[in-house]
Amino acid sequence: METLKVIIGSNMSRWIMHTDMDAFYASVEQYRNHPELVGRPVCVGHDPKGGKGRGVVRAASYEARAKGIRSGMPVSQAYRLCPDAAFIQGEFESYGVASDEFMELLREYADGGRIRRASIDEAYIEVTEGVQLFGGPHKVASLIQESIWDVAKLPCSIGAAPNMAVAKVATGMNKPRGITIVGPDPKDVMRFLEALPVDAINGIGTKTAERLAKFGITSLGQIQRMTIPELWPAMGRSSGWLYRRARGIDERPIIDNGPRVRKSISKDRTFMEDVEPDAIEYLHGVLKKMCNRIGEKLRKKTLRFRTVTVKIRYSDYSTIQRSKSVPVETDCPDVLQRLAVEIFAHRRDREKSLRLVGVKVSGLKESSEQLCLTDFL
Ligand SMILES: [Mg+2]
Repeated sequence: METLKVIIGSNMSRWIMHTDMDAFYASVEQYRNHPELVGRPVCVGHDPKGGKGRGVVRAASYEARAKGIRSGMPVSQAYRLCPDAAFIQGEFESYGVASDEFMELLREYADGGRIRRASIDEAYIEVTEGVQLFGGPHKVASLIQESIWDVAKLPCSIGAAPNMAVAKVATGMNKPRGITIVGPDPKDVMRFLEALPVDAINGIGTKTAERLAKFGITSLGQIQRMTIPELWPAMGRSSGWLYRRARGIDERPIIDNGPRVRKSISKDRTFMEDVEPDAIEYLHGVLKKMCNRIGEKLRKKTLRFRTVTVKIRYSDYSTIQRSKSVPVETDCPDVLQRLAVEIFAHRRDREKSLRLVGVKVSGLKESSEQLCLTDFL
């Protein structure tokens, strides 16, 4: 057997890898659930009903993206862009299974077996040791990509950099099936970020980007030339954070966040036609039905919830979400229904007709015994 010499000096730069599945839900459908859909435009989401459907596309395969379809787009629009696309509802259970599978494959390459899941389809690992062992970051990334493709049948893109923040940006540069390596020289990291827009940084959303634009700041290069006090008027207490991120500085260690746990269960319903605001009985009926289905799921998975959220989208597309929590976790179906109806009745705009309603339970915990907390309410 070959003897491998691993030298890890304390002053050696870290290598962090961010792995992100390409078009995750659509890829699970194409490569795992429905191989007959490989190479075809696939939309996961609501039924477009020949262009009359009213929901949105939750995920689009790259073939669908080539036709201009994007996730979040109304299915009716997606249908007009590509009536030949396969529109499928999607099996959310299977996405969780696929996620667990590739996370375990990633773990094999992770220093100390530590893996930081960022969402169902992306994770960070440290590969400082792996880079020494296998001969460079590109080699490690290729091995990971191959193993995830061969074993889990999923395409992914990988970014490798001295830290999490830069690795995340790198991954997005070259999708699908890309590998992007940045660093380790801090000057190379700075140069990589320089030309990018401010919202390339994970944590800078549309609102913050708009705020920065008002101060004339649009690129990370501009921020690299600023001091923290100069950033203060635009960013306040987050100035130091943005100062560091724009320079590609991020010292967070990879902390394993354990196995995937379900954070919420939700159902929503987009109406075939907008519903008048005074159709109270009908609307309450819809809410109750959704609560029943959520209740069944909670029982099946022996989970309890603490928080109920009601989502309302009006016919003008404005959307509100309002929540209420109980003091102790419960799985009592009456509590769920009462809370949902109460939030809906008190918090919605009674003048506006509705396009969608949804219910979500969160703050989930495993339960062993039955308990009803009607007394608390
Ligand atoms: Mg992804």
